[in-house]
Amino acid sequence: MAKAITDCTVLHNGVEMPWFGLGVWKAQEGDEVKRAVRWALETGYRSIDTAAVYGNEAGVGEAIQESGVARDQLFVTTKVWNSEQGYETTLKAFEESRKKLKLDYLDLYLVHWPVKGKYKETWRALEKLYKDGHVRAIGVSNFQVHHLEDLMADSEVVPMVNQVEFHPLLTQQELRTFCRQHSIQLEAWSPLMQGNLDQPLLTQLAEKYGKTPAQIVLRWDLQNQVVTIPKSVTEHRIRENANIFDFELSAEDMEQISGLNQDKRFGPDPDNFNF
Ligand code: NDP
Repeated sequence: MAKAITDCTVLHNGVEMPWFGLGVWKAQEGDEVKRAVRWALETGYRSIDTAAVYGNEAGVGEAIQESGVARDQLFVTTKVWNSEQGYETTLKAFEESRKKLKLDYLDLYLVHWPVKGKYKETWRALEKLYKDGHVRAIGVSNFQVHHLEDLMADSEVVPMVNQVEFHPLLTQQELRTFCRQHSIQLEAWSPLMQGNLDQPLLTQLAEKYGKTPAQIVLRWDLQNQVVTIPKSVTEHRIRENANIFDFELSAEDMEQISGLNQDKRFGPDPDNFNF
């Protein structure tokens, strides 16, 4: 169980990945994203999740450089966007992301969405980048069980991570079981339901534990062994979200939160997206 912000899960290739990090989707390139990353690093965050399509890799890279935090203490994730999928185009996209981030290597590179007819070629490029030592771990995002089965039937490296929408209203039971069986680490996107935290149970538990609803949900992620990357560009929330290592939810409360599941998505459905 994670006891500190720097505690890590060990991916199936032995690489350590922090259980907790900062997401930066919708953080504006320039000052906004730079400030958020700086506050996060000052608070002790060591993992940052960006993507080429977020348009803020350069700002993330600058903030990392200015922070002075040693490279080997950091875990940086980015993702190849849908329009760049395919073998050569992915290799090129990786190089562009790496340059924008001003890093020699990346910690985790993800296939952002399972684009039909493309993701296997994209994955071959990720395998190449991994074997050549440009990235320490590779994974996918928004892959359902059938996408994973299809990919794994035709590839050499089993994804180390699957980053999917996951929160109390979308508990992804089947996918979690599959990932656990194949040692694929599940990572939650939109863990805070994009700010829609006004659930009576969460408010009640927040009072009981002397925490906020956001902290209750993030702690529930950790106790479920799901990596979590809440996004905020607000200093006090960046600190609030990280203050989850000094309490533990009881087994009953964990179950109650999981009982909120409605298979409700705030984001797109991986089986039916058109971008
Ligand atoms: P989150 O569930 O993390 O919610 C972010 C929203 O909640 C923002 O509006 C933020 O506001 C607000 N917020 C943050 N902390 C608190 C708090 N303590 N109390 C109340 N409100 C709060 O949503 P995201 O969709 O951003 O998901 C997190 C990360 O996951 C993304 O940033 C991205 O890195 C990744 N992601 C990946 C996807 C994928 O396809 N792979 C898809 C979507 C996200 P404010 O910033 O104003 O403080």
